[in-house]
Amino acid sequence: MPSRCYLCYTDGESIDHILAGCLFSCRIWVEMMSKLDLQWNRPHSLKAWLEFVNSNAGSSKRDVVWRVGVLAIMWATWMERNN
Ligand SMILES: [Zn+2]
Repeated sequence: MPSRCYLCYTDGESIDHILAGCLFSCRIWVEMMSKLDLQWNRPHSLKAWLEFVNSNAGSSKRDVVWRVGVLAIMWATWMERNN
């Protein structure tokens, strides 16, 4: 059994939980989606998240910023988890 998530203390810790399903990271994603005016259903796995990101991105500069922004938030969340 995975250890308890250090960010929300409500579920077991896994990469899918931390980057997709965690209440802590979800607050960040909700804010980001709101600012970008994107409709989404909260993904519950990293794979589903990345599929969503790719389905909403092409090759424009905006889309590159979108992808980099998502990865930056994932990186910052992971760093917070390790603090
Ligand atoms: Zn959590």
